[in-house]
Amino acid sequence: AKEQGGNCYQLYTSAIEEKSYDRLMLEMSLRQALDRNEFILYYQPQVHLQTGKIVAAEALIRWLHPDRGLISPAEFIPLAEETGLIVRLDEWVLQNACEQAKIWQQTGHQLTIAVNLSGLQFNQPGLTQRVIHIIRESQVNPCHVEIELTESALVQNPELAICILRDLKDFSLQLSLDDFGTGYSSLSYLQQFPFDTLKIDRSFVRDLLTSSKNAAIINAIIQLAGQLNLKVIAEGVETREQYDFLRKNHCDLIQGYYFSPPLAVADFEALLSEQRHH
Ligand code: C2E
Ligand code: CA
Ligand code: CA
Ligand code: CA
Repeated sequence: AKEQGGNCYQLYTSAIEEKSYDRLMLEMSLRQALDRNEFILYYQPQVHLQTGKIVAAEALIRWLHPDRGLISPAEFIPLAEETGLIVRLDEWVLQNACEQAKIWQQTGHQLTIAVNLSGLQFNQPGLTQRVIHIIRESQVNPCHVEIELTESALVQNPELAICILRDLKDFSLQLSLDDFGTGYSSLSYLQQFPFDTLKIDRSFVRDLLTSSKNAAIINAIIQLAGQLNLKVIAEGVETREQYDFLRKNHCDLIQGYYFSPPLAVADFEALLSEQRHH
């Protein structure tokens, strides 16, 4: 029995060693990827429900790995957050998305560009200045830049978060509360923080037609947003039925596979020009 225990122990440690080795390798290649510019942005349309027009695009990062191909953010964002690399990564995203938005504006497409900002950024001194600097450099109109934040960004230090968000608002940026309903959801946040948009999490949208509770929650969120003068967007809209429900119930915007998945720049532009000719 003793021997067996010993073996188990060995197995256990080597599994852990292997795991941290993999992690270390991933961290190293993530750093390298930043230096080598191996990331690309995909854009997912946000569509105005009443007009059917693309009014905004969310920038979503992908890692174009030389051997492994396209890697989804779910695989590397958590590690980027743990290692602090997320700060450089998010700044890279903001800069590139703003440059892209500027190009689209110059070709006659007035689109708002939505960019995700990790809550960890809030612990970094000088965040507002860096964001403002990047947007100024890109020469994009800050009214057409929206920053998406999750509730987790706000709970750790709400007083600090309010200050940062006010500074970003003073610079005319749009602020969106992402994954709404999944986090800590203190409704008082909505009143305290200067958000422009509520983004209904896709878990509510997914079960919309099978769960009358989720349908009620969505309607309540839409009502609440209306009362608070917030725009409301539903994410993860995949079916015609979900689309119809949201339109009937006066949701402002939708984002999801029903209209389009996130697209590479060329495909996004093809979609834009298709719309223009309709
Ligand atoms: P998110 O901000 O909630 O982004 C929406 C995610 O839902 C995207 O996954 C998108 O591809 C996916 N999605 C869109 N429509 C549908 C749909 O109809 N059905 C389903 N099932 N999924 C849909 P993606 O691109 O894999 O990104 C995952 C998460 O990674 C994002 O969730 C966001 O939290 C994070 N992320 C992505 N890009 C960045 C970034 O530049 N910075 C930071 N900090 N996080 C990012
Ligand atoms: Ca988002
Ligand atoms: Ca989301
Ligand atoms: Ca999310």
